[in-house]
Order: sequence, then C-alpha cells, then structure tokens
Amino acid sequence: MNQMVRYALIAGEKCRQTPVARPQNPAFLALQNQRRRLCFAPVDVFVLHRKTVQCRHARQTFVPVRALQTHASMIHETENSIAVPHLGGVSLSLERVNEEEHETPSPQTVTAPKAAPLWMPQRAIFTPAALEWEHGQAIFDRCEKLGIPTEKLKANRLTGLTQEDVRKTYAAAKRTLAVVVSPPSYLKLSPIPPSADWQFHVAEGCPAHCQYCYLAGSLSGPPIVRAFANLPQILENLVQYEDIKPNVAKPRGNSPTAERGREDSTSFEVSCYTDPLGIEHLTGSLAESIRYFGTRDKGFLRCVSKFDAVDELLTLPHNGQTRFRSSMNAEPVSRRLEGGTANVPARLQALRKLALPPERGGGGYPIGIVVAPIMPMDDWQAHYTKLLDEAAAALDFECDLIFELITHRFTPGSKDVLLQWYPNTSLDLDESKRDVKRNKFGGTKYVYPRELMKELKAWFYQEIETRFPDGKILYWT
Ligand code: SF4
Repeated sequence: MNQMVRYALIAGEKCRQTPVARPQNPAFLALQNQRRRLCFAPVDVFVLHRKTVQCRHARQTFVPVRALQTHASMIHETENSIAVPHLGGVSLSLERVNEEEHETPSPQTVTAPKAAPLWMPQRAIFTPAALEWEHGQAIFDRCEKLGIPTEKLKANRLTGLTQEDVRKTYAAAKRTLAVVVSPPSYLKLSPIPPSADWQFHVAEGCPAHCQYCYLAGSLSGPPIVRAFANLPQILENLVQYEDIKPNVAKPRGNSPTAERGREDSTSFEVSCYTDPLGIEHLTGSLAESIRYFGTRDKGFLRCVSKFDAVDELLTLPHNGQTRFRSSMNAEPVSRRLEGGTANVPARLQALRKLALPPERGGGGYPIGIVVAPIMPMDDWQAHYTKLLDEAAAALDFECDLIFELITHRFTPGSKDVLLQWYPNTSLDLDESKRDVKRNKFGGTKYVYPRELMKELKAWFYQEIETRFPDGKILYWT
C-alpha cells in the first residue's frame, strides 16, 4: 500500500478570476514551460507525491515544484501546502485535504507514459576556465535562454556547496549545475567492464533521485551536477584509445565489442556518473558525442538513460556508431525508487522512436534495454513479465536490440550515503539477506544469495529469449 496525500486547489487571496477551485466548475490554467505544457486541472486531481504535484486527469503532464519555481520565484512551500502566487495573474495554492491509502497497482494495470520534467537547476555556476571554452559559453547561453539564474565565478574552485546538514546539502546540490573544466586525470581513461572497454566523462552528478543510486559512495562531495566545458578536448583524447584493449579479464557472455562482430572495434561508455540525456537540454554534450562517433570507424559509443527527451537526437548523423540503451525496471521499483525520471512506458516510447527506421520517423539507432537493478520483490515474476511484455509491444518491429541484466547490490559505503540522502527509503539494504562478495582490493559488496541469483537469471534468460528471439543478452551480473 502506498500512502498518497491529496491536495485541493484553492483560490488564493489575490485571485482575480472566479471560476477557480470548485469541483463542479474546474479552473484550467496552462503554462508554457519550454515545449512542455504545465497544466492545472480540477480541484480534486492533484496528488503530492514527494516533490511532485501530479495532475491525475492529464496523466502525462505534471508540475515539478522546481519548474514552478523558475516561473514564480515567490513560491511558498510548507509541509502541508504549496502556494503559487501570481501564476499567469492568478494566485493559487494547494492545500492538504485528506490522506488516502492506495493499492499498489497490480501487474496487469496499464500505466500511461509520463515524461520526465526537464531539469531546471535553481542556479548554474560557471568557472572562468569553463567560459574560455566555446562549449562552456554555449551552455551558459542555453541556461540564460531558459531563464535559469547564472553566476560567473571569480575562481575555478567550487566552494560553499555544503549546508548545515546532509539533507540540505543534498537538496541544494541537486538543484545546482556547475560548468567546469574536467580534471586532467579524466583524460586518462579507465576500463568499465562489462558494459564497455573504456569510459569517458562529459559530466558527473545527476538530476534524478534514484534511491539506489550508483553514484552514492562513488563521487565525493555534495552531489551537484558538473558539466565539462572542455568537450572538444575530451572527444579528441579518445582517438588514442581506439586501438588499445584494457587490461582486464574478458567479461563472461557477449562483450559489447564482440557483439558488433568486429574484434578491431572498441567500445566507449559516455558518462556513467550522470544521466547524459537528463541534462542534454542544457549541455548538448550527448548530441556532440554522437556526432563525433558518427565520424569514427573503430570506436563506437554506448550511452544509457532513464529519461525520454530524445527528439533532438533522432536526426543526428550517428551512422550506427552509437547504441542507445534505456535503463528499465519493474513498475514497483521504478515508481517507488526512481524519482525525477521518466516512467518506464515513456522510456519505452523514447526507445521506440530511437530505433524506428528514419523512413518511419525514427532515429534508426541500435538500441538496448538495461534491466537494472533487478530486485526480487513480491510477485517479481508478474511485475517483470509486465515489463517485458510492454517492451515487446513497444519494439514490435525489426531492430538491433541487446539486453544487459544487472541485479541490485550495495556496499557498506553506498548504504551509508544512501541512508543519509534517503532516510525513509523502502529500499531493502539488509545485509543478512545477502551474500558477501569481495574484490581483490578487499572491498565488500552485498549481492543476492547464489540460489536466488540462479533462479532470477534462468527466468530472465528464458523470458527474454521467448519474446525477443533476435535480441542478444550481453551479460548478467
Ligand atoms: Fe543515479 Fe542513474 Fe538514478 Fe541518476 S539516473 S540518480 S545516476 S541511478
């Protein structure tokens, strides 16, 4: 059971329009937020779920508080209400009217696609070194155009990112974009088995709020989003790695390089420390990377996302050199734990657009589904069956499709950080239900017990092979 709090839309003191906030006489107020319409609908259709005001009639649109703030800086938020003064000449507020228990939707329930809100940081800060790069200046211009408050720093060091406590630091960091030059050490690439030969970074830090986030414990300091302005340098640097294979054990299963059928090719994963599509409307760095790899022969790009704003990528000259994967999960995991992302049906629609041939209006990209992190929740077979059925329905045409299957795991360090970021999380982090795995450096991680892993793996392989006879599974981990 999920607890949902219902809010009523009421007229504020300064309301100058009468037909507001009566169930029988609903008020509609539409705002334009870039290309997305934000919609206020009748009085009883709002649900405040974490930081999201959701319009339940127009299921595909919802109003993130942060996006509202860019339009109405006077927004007043308390535990029980959100006041939005003078939006479009009308003063409105949302007040708590009741609390209800809702059944967790059954696996049969059809969920409508719900796009991710475009991330609008509350401030974008730029170092002097970043602004020396044309790409840094382009990000600055995009932010200005979108009305995001920008700030040019006097020095290249980022300071003042820490607040009184971890929660406040986290909240402020997740609303901050810093545009910087990447540290020189980032030009020395590291391997990233099993997902690619090499990884490179165009940004790090992510606007989404996944409660199992892989970044917890991997990145130090407040989790702000850092976008790298020296993109041309980062891309030029990759050439020297095209002929080098990393010195790591060959991953079991199909490697991303081998699945291309060309042993002389080298795979590059872009930015596993962010979601590159989640910040693309501000940076343009993913499109630039795709264009770059479109000119390469041996090197090819892999990227993964939980967002869905792919329209700008469809016409890029990728030449089949980019495989775009979408990270998916069963509905209960995605709904409970993946805040700020597009829901899974919206991700599937995005993947469909990317994979459709250009003559059908698509991007003609090789694609992939990363099922991660796989969690054996109650009824897991039914929930993952629904996911795979929906994927098969969305990809009902011939396409170049691969799967990557990743089970949930955590380390003592990541658990620590996650519990500070999400103290009320329902994520299962109970070590006593896990097997311990140690790496050669003495590090520990907690994975599902061997027998359960075997059962999960056998189930996924069989169900995927049944639905996608041509879809290759690259690996299970
Ligand atoms: Fe973390 Fe990925 Fe979720 Fe971003 S999308 S919060 S990087 S798990």
